[in-house]
Amino acid sequence: MGDYGDQCRELRNAKRTARDLYGVDCPVCVEKLPKANPSILLPQQVCKIHKYRDPRPYDEAKTMWGVAGYEKEPTDESRPQP
Ligand SMILES: [Zn+2]
Repeated sequence: MGDYGDQCRELRNAKRTARDLYGVDCPVCVEKLPKANPSILLPQQVCKIHKYRDPRPYDEAKTMWGVAGYEKEPTDESRPQP
């Protein structure tokens, strides 16, 4: 088992790898903010600036969690509300 620091580093690397492999530039960013760095969107990810959602189907394997080989831990967002 790696310590917390190792895990953070792994996840950061996985995030970068996922973006490199599966990320696409937000087309709205490209169109409206050609001089800025566009948001990189993974499947079903939403551009925080434009609320543009990537239309590709969600695929766990294409997230940083899938790339890192982790089970995604439930977050407040994904946990079903009572
Ligand atoms: Zn955008």
